Amino acid sequence: MERLGRKWGRAKLPKLGWVTFRWSRPLGGEIRSATVSRKGGHWFVSFLVNDQATTPEQHAMPDTVAGIDWGVKTAAVTSDGEFFDRPFITAGETARCRRLQQQLARTTKGSANRAKVRAHMNKIMGRVAGRRADFCAVTAAHLTAKNAFVVLEDLKTRSMTASASGTLAEPGSRVARYTGTRVVKVNPAYTSQRCSACGFVTGGNRESQAVFRCKAAGCGHTAHADVNAAINIRHAAGHAVSACGDLGNSRSVKQEPVSRATGRTPT
Ligand SMILES: [Zn+2]
Repeated sequence: MERLGRKWGRAKLPKLGWVTFRWSRPLGGEIRSATVSRKGGHWFVSFLVNDQATTPEQHAMPDTVAGIDWGVKTAAVTSDGEFFDRPFITAGETARCRRLQQQLARTTKGSANRAKVRAHMNKIMGRVAGRRADFCAVTAAHLTAKNAFVVLEDLKTRSMTASASGTLAEPGSRVARYTGTRVVKVNPAYTSQRCSACGFVTGGNRESQAVFRCKAAGCGHTAHADVNAAINIRHAAGHAVSACGDLGNSRSVKQEPVSRATGRTPT
């Protein structure tokens, strides 16, 4: 591989020969492999590099723990009361998608016109997916820098909203590798209905999407519903720790970069 200037580079790939690409970011290490993929009508080449970074034995702030509520409404809320959110799709893109959807319904199956409308939709959705991925990476970097332990709900056991939350992905282990943060997953049962102050559980505690107000006599604890849930998630990790004795057991951080293969080749 070689650099062709400030913005361009070229790489010699098997079967393809020399391929020119726009050099979008510094590599920061020795190249191990290259992957070519296609998204929203564009081709991408990504390089897996060995950056020589090792996972620290201990986080810079070893006593820090945050519970995270990955929601549907707000993207992520922490037990410290931090909110992470951003729109992924613009109003203009939403309107355009709706129009394209209508156009698609009027086309005939297998027609060139239908393929064109599809391609247009995929292009927009590709941009949306890119923003989402960027948001997840930035949020994960922030959370792992600040916390030695990040506690998440194990979404496999929350089937009802899994499809909605699943689209957000989780704070990446890729980032945790640099800080030594350990990711702990807990059972999400009752995290939104339990009072984080007194432990009382009832569906009535959650007054609305945003407001939590404890109905237990003599408590009356009020909080933002997502923050209350995030605190419960953090508490649940405490139980998980005493149950298995060692938090190290729940470590889900990858130590070594893993090569990815897309199975797709350019045509
Ligand atoms: Zn209470």
